[in-house]
This record gives sequence, C-alpha cells and structure tokens, in this order.
Amino acid sequence: MQVINSVKEMKQVRQKLTGTVGFVPTMGFLHEGHLTLVRRAKRKNDVAVVSIFVNPTQFGPGEDLQQYPRDTERDLALLEKEGVDIVFMPTPNDMYPDSYNTWVETSGITKRLEGKKRPGHFRGVTTIVNKLLNIVLPHKAYFGQKDAQQLRVIQKMVADLNMHVRIVTVTTVREKDGLAMSSRNIYLNDEERKAALVLYKVLSVAEELYMRGEHDAARIKVKMTGLINKESLAKIDYISIANSDTLEELTYIDHPALISMAVKIGTTRLIDNRTIG
Ligand code: AMP
Repeated sequence: MQVINSVKEMKQVRQKLTGTVGFVPTMGFLHEGHLTLVRRAKRKNDVAVVSIFVNPTQFGPGEDLQQYPRDTERDLALLEKEGVDIVFMPTPNDMYPDSYNTWVETSGITKRLEGKKRPGHFRGVTTIVNKLLNIVLPHKAYFGQKDAQQLRVIQKMVADLNMHVRIVTVTTVREKDGLAMSSRNIYLNDEERKAALVLYKVLSVAEELYMRGEHDAARIKVKMTGLINKESLAKIDYISIANSDTLEELTYIDHPALISMAVKIGTTRLIDNRTIG
C-alpha cells in the first residue's frame, strides 16, 4: 500500500496507473461504513484509492473541526488489511495554499436541510470533492447514503459539470441495534449512546406509519417529533420529509421520499435518513 502526502506526487502516480480506478474520499477515523465503501471500490476496480482529509472548508465557525477524531495509524492498518492500493493524505496547506481562490458551488438543493443549518458546508464539500476527483481521476467514486443530501449534491455537481466520474451509492451501514455508524459516535458517552438510538427508532416508526397508509407528511413529522422529545438528551435540529430527488419538502407523500433529520444528543449532532415509497 502506497501512502501519498502531496498533490504533486498523487498526480504523478495517477498518470502511471492502468485499468479502472475506484476512489473513496473520507475524513478518516474509519469504521465499517467507510470500509464497506472501500471493499466495493476494491472489488469492482483494478486499483483502489482512498483519501483521508479532514476538510477545513466544510466546517462552519463553532463546529468540531479541531476536535474531529483522528487516528491515522489505525486507519492505515485497516486500509492495508483491505488491500487498498493507494492512500492519499494531503496536508491542508497543499490543498488550500494561501493563494487559494476557487470555489465550486451547487445552488438549489444545497440551501435545504443540512445546507440551511450549516451555511457554507456544501460549498466546502463540492470544492474538496472536485479537487480530489481532479487529482485522483477515478472512473468511479463511492459515497454513502448515510449523507443523503451530500450524495445528491455531488451527483448534481457531476451531472451539471459533465464530469467523467461515475458516482456509486452505498447503503448506510449500522450498528447491531440500528445506530448509523459515524466517526462522530465516538463523542457519545454510554447514556448518550443509548439515547442516540432514537434516530433509528423514529425512522422506523415513520416508515411503518407510511406503510400503514399515512401519507400526510405533517402528521408523520408530528409523531416523530413527539417521540424524539420524549428522549431527554435529544434535541431536534430539523426533521424533513422531502422529494427524494429535489429535496423539496412534501406535504403529501406521493413520490419516493427522503425522511431525514439532524438531532443533537447532548452536544453531538447526528444525522440519519431513510427513503420510503
Ligand atoms: P466521512 O469520513 O464522514 O466524510 O465519510 C466518508 C464517506 O463514507 C461518505 O461518502 C459517507 O457517506 C460514507 N459513510 C459514512 N458513514 C457511513 C455509514 N454508516 N454507512 C455507509 N457509508 C458511510
């Protein structure tokens, strides 16, 4: 496994690669969710490239950029075990030198849900993903459904900018009890870890209501809100039932819908989602 720390070297190495390249961008502190993407990339391509980069431009003021969990040694051992060919770990300064001046911004869907709550977040995401794709030039890039809006924003960017890469979606990997795996789960203490299950539970309840014939989005949201509010450690940031393509809020569910939410458990902000219909 080759570990590359500079953009220049990554571009040089890329030029010499032959066959199909599968790419998994991550912010590290890897878990089974990430590794599922990695395995898919490895199995379906001749060369598997994984990046580890905690992208500063997608964190807002007061967010957890400084505290974001990092364990490079462990990450590299896990990736080595998976048979990854190349790990690209650039420095922030190499990605964003002082002279840096170019931003990629997708409008429309980035103003909703996460984008509304975290202004500037998706501009950071689209910019870094664009840069990484330009450096690694993969045939396919793998993203998790866990970050459903991010996935749609990237699909939109790739379509709008006529990029060559194929975006592959991987379903959310969960802990045995249903909690979606996330690097941020490490922030939770035992009590919060138990409380965090409420996200999965209310998604299941929402789906069940829908399956039983409830198509009124407001009524489903009221039920979800009530259940989350019963959990004393949980505080709702938003709950959304939206058209799964445009992410526009639905009043009546007559189209595949993305139920998504951000909930603070103590000081940790968690997101989860499910597609219904
Ligand atoms: P991150 O390191 O959080 O930026 O995530 C890197 C990639 O892994 C993104 O495409 C995420 O959507 C994906 N990912 C994170 N958690 C999960 C999960 N539990 N299941 C599937 N994919 C995930």
